[in-house]
Amino acid sequence: MPISLIDGFARPITYLRVSVTDKCNLRCIYCMPEGGLPWLRRDEILTYEEIATIVRAAASVGVRAIRLTGGEPLARRELSGLVARISAIPGIEDVALSTNGLLLAAQLDDLVAAGLRRVNVSLDTLRADRFEALARRPGLDAVLAAIDAAIEAGLQPLKINCVVMRGRNDDELLAFAELTRTRRVFVRFIELMPVHENLGLQRDAYISSADILDRLGAIGELLPVLPPLGNGPARYFAFPGAPGAVGVISPLSHDYCERCNRVRLSADGNLRLCLFGDRGIDLRTPVRSGATVTELASLLRSAMLIKPERHHLRLGETASAMRAFSEIGG
Ligand code: SAM
Ligand code: SF4
Repeated sequence: MPISLIDGFARPITYLRVSVTDKCNLRCIYCMPEGGLPWLRRDEILTYEEIATIVRAAASVGVRAIRLTGGEPLARRELSGLVARISAIPGIEDVALSTNGLLLAAQLDDLVAAGLRRVNVSLDTLRADRFEALARRPGLDAVLAAIDAAIEAGLQPLKINCVVMRGRNDDELLAFAELTRTRRVFVRFIELMPVHENLGLQRDAYISSADILDRLGAIGELLPVLPPLGNGPARYFAFPGAPGAVGVISPLSHDYCERCNRVRLSADGNLRLCLFGDRGIDLRTPVRSGATVTELASLLRSAMLIKPERHHLRLGETASAMRAFSEIGG
C-alpha cells in the first residue's frame, strides 16, 4: 500500500497517536489539576469499533504505526480488545502503548497476546515519596515492577519517559542514566511543555534539553548512538558497553517539527494535526454517520493541507508563548 498521506511540506505521515480516554488514575503536577478535568461524557468518546474504522482508513493511506495513549490508556476497560482489532488491520506494522505503568503488569499477558509490540512507561522519579508528590498518588513500586515485567515479556525496546523539572527531579538525572547500564531500557528526558494547567510550574521548572545534555555530559562517558526502533524524535547517548541508552526530547525546539511524521486522534474523535495549536478535523461525526473507509481516507488526505509546518513555541520564547498558550487554551 503506497503512502499517500503527505503534508504540504512533503512529510509522509506514517504514525498515528490515538488517545483512548481523557481520564487518568494519576494527577501528575505538569499534566492535570488535582481535582481532575471536566471529563468527556461516555457517549462523546469513540468506541473501539469507531477507532478501528479510523485506523483502517489511516492504514489505507500509509499510516504504519499506532501508539495508544491517553489520559491513561490502561484505565479504559479491556484495552487489549482494541490492540487486537488494530493489530489485525492490514498495513499496521507496529502497535505501541504509552502508559504510567500502574495497571500494566496485570494486563501485560493479554496485551502481548493481542499484538502489543512496545511500551513507553512514564516515570519521573525513582523515589517513592517524590513519586507521590509529583503524581499526587502513590505507586512507584507498581511502576518499577511493570517495567521489569514488560522487559521480561519481550516488549522491546522499552522506553522510560521522564519529564525533567528543575528543583523537583533534576537531581535524579544520573540515577536514571545509571538504569541504562544494567537494563536494556531507553530513558528519554523530556522538556516540560506548557499546558494551561501548569503555567507556574513551567515558568519555574523548565530545563531545556541542551541543559539536560550538558548535565549528562558531565557524567563523562556518554557517546551518541543510533535510536532504537520506533518513531520518536529523541536523540540518544549511551555509556560504553551499556545495554540501554538515554535520550532527550525537545518538543520546544524546532528539529522536533522538521521530521514530523505524526498526527493525533483525540478520545472524542478530533484529528489533531500538531502538538500545539488548535488545527484539527472532526472525524467522529463522519464515522458515526456511516462514512466508509474510503471517505474517511479522503478526509485524512484533505487534513494534510492544514497541517502546519511547525508549532509556534520556541526555546527562549517560552514565557511569551506560555502567555499566548494560556490565552488560547484558557
Ligand atoms: N498516561 C500516560 C503516560 O503518562 O505515559 C499516557 C499519556 S501522557 C499525557 C504521555 C506523556 O506525556 C507522558 O510521558 C507524560 O509524562 C508526558 N507529558 C504530559 N504532560 C506533559 C508536559 N506538560 N510536558 C512534558 N511532557 C508531558
Ligand atoms: Fe497525565 Fe499520564 Fe500523568 Fe496521567 S499519568 S496525569 S495522563 S502524564
